Amino acid sequence: MMLLSIMAILFMKIDILTILPNMFKNIFSESLIGKAINSKILNITVIDIRSFSSDKHKKVDDKPFGGGSGMVIKVEPIYNAIRKLGVIKKNNTYRNPYLRPYVVCMSPQGKTLNNKIIKYISKFKHLIIVCGHYEGIDERVVNYVDEEISIGDYVLTGGEIPAMVLVDTVARMLPGVIKGKDSVQNDSFFNGLLDYPHYTRPSVFRGYVVPGVLLSGNHKKIEEWREKEALKRTKERRPELLKRRN
Ligand code: SAM
Repeated sequence: MMLLSIMAILFMKIDILTILPNMFKNIFSESLIGKAINSKILNITVIDIRSFSSDKHKKVDDKPFGGGSGMVIKVEPIYNAIRKLGVIKKNNTYRNPYLRPYVVCMSPQGKTLNNKIIKYISKFKHLIIVCGHYEGIDERVVNYVDEEISIGDYVLTGGEIPAMVLVDTVARMLPGVIKGKDSVQNDSFFNGLLDYPHYTRPSVFRGYVVPGVLLSGNHKKIEEWREKEALKRTKERRPELLKRRN
């Protein structure tokens, strides 16, 4: 019993399919993600798509049908990898739907990542992320993924940085990754508002002073001030968030 209570629970396994596995070498060993991996809350495996190529030279790209510039990543190695990781069909029936691996493909043409999507994905126990490259992946990949996700209306050279963004944002939703659940819940977007402003020592810096209420020690007043500030800056900077919240 005692042992069980001190053993960390694995909340999510993430497999990342990429043609550039070295890009992930140090990124997840640092910061809170590294700590989550060490304490076995999170498990991340980076998989080289080339190891699923049936080509003798381990080639995973080819020229686009119809001509044009650039190369396209083939669907076959991605399919092989996803199948090996346990996903055969899109709508596998599991008694607990969140035990089914959730497959995401990073694409500038996907749904733009937001906190709602992040919260949804963080419920799954197994996440598979497919990173594209070159001109992208053969369109038939959509038959094997649950969702295409974009990190914004711009184009990066590959899906690796978008995958890192997705992993980081999803990981911080997992229990135990950020200590004190309040820090995630007070963060911008969690409840549809921007966060309140933060200050630390010194209380006066080159004439700029910290709002007096934060030094008052009155927790009720501090909480009220923070709520008011969060609402105020959301109204000023992102009024559409307030409309959506209402
Ligand atoms: N030809 C594609 C287009 O215009 O839609 C762009 C391909 S991009 C150069 C190569 C890969 O980078 C994509 O397959 C995707 O995995 C990734 N990528 C680029 N921009 C992205 C974004 N904004 N969000 C998510 N993934 C992105």
